[in-house]
Amino acid sequence: MAAIKLGLVGVGKIARDQHFPAIHANPDFDLVAVASRHATVDGLPSYHDVAEMLAAHPEIEAVSICTPPQSRHEIARFVLESGRHVMMEKPPGATVTEVHDLIDLACRRDLALMATWHSRYAPAVIPAKEWIAQRRLRRVHVTWREDVRHWHPGQDWVWEAGGLGVFDPGINALSIITAILPNPLIMQEATLDFPANRHSPVTATLSMKDVAGLPVTADFHWLQTGPQTWDIQVEAEDGVLTLSRGGAAMSIDGVAQLEQKEQEYPGLYRRFAQLVPKAGIDADMAPLHLVADAFLRGERRTVDAFHW
Ligand code: NAP
Repeated sequence: MAAIKLGLVGVGKIARDQHFPAIHANPDFDLVAVASRHATVDGLPSYHDVAEMLAAHPEIEAVSICTPPQSRHEIARFVLESGRHVMMEKPPGATVTEVHDLIDLACRRDLALMATWHSRYAPAVIPAKEWIAQRRLRRVHVTWREDVRHWHPGQDWVWEAGGLGVFDPGINALSIITAILPNPLIMQEATLDFPANRHSPVTATLSMKDVAGLPVTADFHWLQTGPQTWDIQVEAEDGVLTLSRGGAAMSIDGVAQLEQKEQEYPGLYRRFAQLVPKAGIDADMAPLHLVADAFLRGERRTVDAFHW
């Protein structure tokens, strides 16, 4: 089969760190051009916006959207209306309704739509799901504490409305737990701390239950310097499973079971290559629903202003 002719929109940190290497290593894709308001890419035709790019390259069959969430819907809608398949960075949108709109549109136009959840492609996620499926669980706790200044240097969009704040990394943890746990989760309580000068939270504590009563709690923090923590602890009747390093490592009762190099983005592009020929939809909304519910249900507090 000929390689899928691909365009990419939003040349920023994640496009350069992960998308370009994953695309270049995958023979199913041929990256034809990029669109970004300011950035260009050496050796590739670069356009200011998606409309210019698609007009200049009618051969583009699919577009990978790597912009922040606030501009995703408008771009994705335009691409689908232009008859091309769409792959979107996480979170799939700044609101729930706009993502539903894209799913409906992709179905109507018979086009592939992939809302990527890169953390679900971490190597320990499937082994953890299999371990969990054979057990009765007692509780689950997520600790996701990282340093926004290190991972998002100068990215003001994360602090703007729709930028999700600490849920930008936290939604990765939610994407894992909604994939490995057997039942849907319901948000019970949340506390969200907003810096006095920002429109999105810097810390969040969440208390959820699955529909069978399993307690699931989460602690998201965005000012952790030093060692970073991306852990999920699952306590069963006969042991404790810990996913650490965002799902790259797994231990049971403290004994290491698996530790692999992170390979998330190659996995995402392998999946997209499967979806395109059959116009498949892979757009699980569960992580975004939980974030929306935390904003709906959460108690808000104002904390110290945040400055880079
Ligand atoms: P980024 O470095 O700010 O890059 C995004 C690029 O999108 C910008 O450089 C900008 O390029 C373009 N853009 C288009 N519309 C924009 C707008 N309204 N505001 C700001 N930029 C806009 O961000 P990123 O870290 O790559 O993150 C992009 C997406 O990937 C986010 O949804 C994020 O959650 C996700 N992601 C990021 C990481 C990470 O480690 N950073 C990891 C996984 C997923 P132009 O100015 O040239 O248009």
